[in-house]
Amino acid sequence: MSEHTVQPSVTVLGLGPMGRALAGAFLDAGVRTTVWNRTPGRDAELTGRGAVAASSPEEAVAASPLTVVCVVNYDASDAVLRQDAVTAALKGRTVVNLSADTPGRARDTDEWAGRHGIRYLDGAIMTPAPTIGTDDAVFLHSGPEELYREHRPVLAALGGGHTHLGEEIGRAAAYDVALLDVFWTAMAGYTHAIAVARAEGVTATELAPFAQGIAAILPPLFTEFAADIDAGTYSGDLNPITSAASTMDHIVHASEAHGIDASVMRVIEGQARRVIARGHGGDGFSRVVEVIAHR
Ligand code: NDP
Repeated sequence: MSEHTVQPSVTVLGLGPMGRALAGAFLDAGVRTTVWNRTPGRDAELTGRGAVAASSPEEAVAASPLTVVCVVNYDASDAVLRQDAVTAALKGRTVVNLSADTPGRARDTDEWAGRHGIRYLDGAIMTPAPTIGTDDAVFLHSGPEELYREHRPVLAALGGGHTHLGEEIGRAAAYDVALLDVFWTAMAGYTHAIAVARAEGVTATELAPFAQGIAAILPPLFTEFAADIDAGTYSGDLNPITSAASTMDHIVHASEAHGIDASVMRVIEGQARRVIARGHGGDGFSRVVEVIAHR
């Protein structure tokens, strides 16, 4: 059998919603997929579709040249990968850790992998489980480019867009935490907005289309802000931060009049006020990035 006709194979460790989606996409693409999860029983649907169930993580990683780990965080991936038998079985093989955690944990895992002769790529998934295997999936990777290229054909089975962000191993996690920061602060703003609206007799459903209108303003603003911040101009020509701080104050008062916790907005208003106190009241909200970076 020529090298090109050998069926590619992968091991997936972790069968939460995301791990199951990854394993399912590998199976759909015809990749021989071995699976393992700490709690037994999560592999039933996958084995029904042809996945091989391993009885231990060491057996799982020994089954494939490439192991994809997708568990809740790096405490969990450490708990699996750093068992002696698993570490030994991984020697000379590749691990791609798609669990979410900090850049520091990615660097620590890379250092551990290097000490044990394990080839290591770090990664992050930026879209929900149902996108996996579709064009909408977004994967970020970092680590040795050659290693990434070697495994790229198998990873392509996961669908969507894959971006190799560079050799510095913490880079995918750096993007991940920054992008999750955008997501969670936006969702916190939305849930808070709904609480305020409901207190005024507006239902979440009534507010939703208008909230989507606000969300639609953001993408071009992100691009504008990025250029503004990278250039250090912090332009407030169209919306000076004095005006922005005034609207934040309205949100705080309207919330607290209904007994709604406004602590997040108070913090944001405080940051804007610090910008103004430093003599930058004519600048845009983008100037906050400097104030919070130098406490
Ligand atoms: P979870 O984040 O809830 O992770 C569940 C998985 O982690 C299960 O396989 C669970 O095993 C395992 N786990 C937890 N603690 C341990 C441990 N100490 N030892 C071994 N395994 C452990 O679910 P997801 O599958 O959704 O997420 C996995 C990763 O993917 C996370 O880092 C998440 O941030 C990321 N992600 C998820 C997205 C999604 O839409 N779900 C979107 C983008 C990223 P057990 O079954 O035994 O509890």
